[in-house]
Amino acid sequence: MSRFVDPAEIEPVDPALRPRRLDDYVGQERVKDNLRVYVRAAIQRGEPLDHVLLSGPPGLGKTSLANILAEELGVTMRTAAGPTLERGGDLAAILTSLGPREVLFIDEIHRLSRVVEEILYPAMEDFHLDIVMGSGPGASSVRIPLQRFTLIGATTRSGLLTSPLRARFGIHAVLDFYTPAELKRIVLRSAERLGLTLVDDAATELSLRSRGTPRIANRLLRRLRDFAQIEGDGRITLELTQSALVRLEVDARGLDAMDRKILHTIAFRFDGGPVGLSNLAAAIGEEPDTIEEVYEPFLIREGLLQRTPQGRTLTSGGAALVGYTGTGLFGP
Ligand code: ADP
Repeated sequence: MSRFVDPAEIEPVDPALRPRRLDDYVGQERVKDNLRVYVRAAIQRGEPLDHVLLSGPPGLGKTSLANILAEELGVTMRTAAGPTLERGGDLAAILTSLGPREVLFIDEIHRLSRVVEEILYPAMEDFHLDIVMGSGPGASSVRIPLQRFTLIGATTRSGLLTSPLRARFGIHAVLDFYTPAELKRIVLRSAERLGLTLVDDAATELSLRSRGTPRIANRLLRRLRDFAQIEGDGRITLELTQSALVRLEVDARGLDAMDRKILHTIAFRFDGGPVGLSNLAAAIGEEPDTIEEVYEPFLIREGLLQRTPQGRTLTSGGAALVGYTGTGLFGP
């Protein structure tokens, strides 16, 4: 499988912008309300929090939420990325180093190798490792006890998780795109932390054009800061925001150049669709995984694109957006 790189990841996360406690974490109210209860109950019983699976598109706050949970539980958190845990020994070394009730965060948990995943099963269920020594008839198995810990797994593709792994998570939290009002609170708070003057109507505009995603909102805010500093008077006004977003190729509803390229390609290269993901990816010159994980969720949620068993098609809204009036969309 190709290595998936979220383009938004290229920009380092500004630690000052990461929320530290549940109360700083904007939105996702239902998820937060439930997690608050589970955290308090675990603390009261002196037990680790049950294992948590966080799923949702990139940049919606899974890593932030994992950090917050560890903070709220008052324990340290170790972090690993699914694809980098290649050998069973890598994971075993981390698991044996965990203290009681500590948190292990595994990002991209749907990309764990099968060997590593199998080590996780007894670790998650009964808090032990089964290590096989030697091979053939002389092989023996050694059981190593572990501290009772919490695994927090994050995934952009919960559908790719194997069912035995999924079944071992007691808590599933699905993060959704943020509303403009929530994003506005996030960018106003980020502006304050960065010491920026972000005018109210500029914050509204930015929140409408950030693809429902806090990471994108914060990234655009940093670009606006650059434009304000070099070409303005340092203040981020509505006018500056609008002209900078045109230069950044972000349109009025937050679609970027790649979003539009995907819609255009389906419309004009594939007559409105349906087109298979790999054909679409080849036509655009982008990784299929990136299209599926980064771009499509928002296009689908905006009602511009549909996944059908035959492939991707434009909706009438998507066709209207790119000015496609062909017949492919609606069949012969
Ligand atoms: P993910 O792990 O889902 O890709 P992150 O947790 O890395 O997303 O979030 C990206 C950035 O967006 C964080 O650094 C943080 O600044 C911001 N962020 C995400 N969710 C929230 C939230 N609910 N409230 C405030 N800021 C948030």
